[in-house]
Amino acid sequence: MEDYKKHMSNQIPKEKNLTMGAPHLVLLGAGASKAAFPNGDANGKELPLTKDLARVCKLGEIDPQAEKAKDFESYYSDLTDTKIKSAMESRIFDYFSSLRLPTEPTIYDYLVLSLRKKDVIATFNWDPFLSQAGQRNHQIGSMPQVLYLHGSVFVGYCMKDKTMGMAGYPCSKCNKPFTRPDLLYPVKEKNYQKDEIIKTNWDYLQKVLKRAYIFTIFGYSAPKTDVEAIDLLKKGWGDKAKRNLEEVEIINRPGADKDKLREVWDEFIHTHHYGVIDDFFNSWLIKHPRRSCDAMWETLMMVRPYKETPPPITKNLNELQKWFSDRLTQYE
Ligand SMILES: [Zn+2]
Repeated sequence: MEDYKKHMSNQIPKEKNLTMGAPHLVLLGAGASKAAFPNGDANGKELPLTKDLARVCKLGEIDPQAEKAKDFESYYSDLTDTKIKSAMESRIFDYFSSLRLPTEPTIYDYLVLSLRKKDVIATFNWDPFLSQAGQRNHQIGSMPQVLYLHGSVFVGYCMKDKTMGMAGYPCSKCNKPFTRPDLLYPVKEKNYQKDEIIKTNWDYLQKVLKRAYIFTIFGYSAPKTDVEAIDLLKKGWGDKAKRNLEEVEIINRPGADKDKLREVWDEFIHTHHYGVIDDFFNSWLIKHPRRSCDAMWETLMMVRPYKETPPPITKNLNELQKWFSDRLTQYE
């Protein structure tokens, strides 16, 4: 009874009193970056989805066919001219590298502040926003681990020391610059085994999938062309009948067909253990920042609901960071 009262009070349980070690895994698709930056980056630069790549990165200047193509992925997969291909790759790379976080808090700031180091974000996006959000918030508290499933314009690795950091910057152990994996450009058949760094990210994701208690899928509708990715996700998650305690949370754009999304992720969902929402700010990690797995376990399994403690929705990053740091004694 004492414990129950504690959950309903404004007291957030200290990390050392928590029992849930399983990670909250958040998978980000292109829709997440799109939702996080509806007005583009700090300078109003648009964040393109695959279908917008040719227009936004002005690829027509390299090959007029690029902008005319109905399906950019097919067009790109069929490209045989290696000169054109590499010119496009560096154009796309330069465009994404130039993107900067707006000064006000973004969904990505809320995301990294509301999870902690046992949690994991796996992203399909190349843009530097998630890394930049981690960089400007890491002094507030422990940050979730991030996996880049298609590479990133921002992040490099040292395979020898198993460290990562800003691409081009020296590794803290051997002092050699972190090398960036080749971005996985939009091709129909993606090979996740070819690049050692990308393979390492996927291998780690599969281990996380096995242990995750909450699996949040944000802005990714698992298109049929992503066979390889979906296959690897399924292998990691395993038989849904054996995941009868876990919860799947799907965040998609307003107006998306919820029944269809349920169907898309059917192989991951045990009976009624799921929710589909269209607003990131209604997600478990926002209602229960840094405590999402414990809050869900206590609420659904122990019938001892946590009181919701959402951070303020503000346009001021200092205010948001202060809200978290004021709670740091509890929010390790
Ligand atoms: Zn090193």
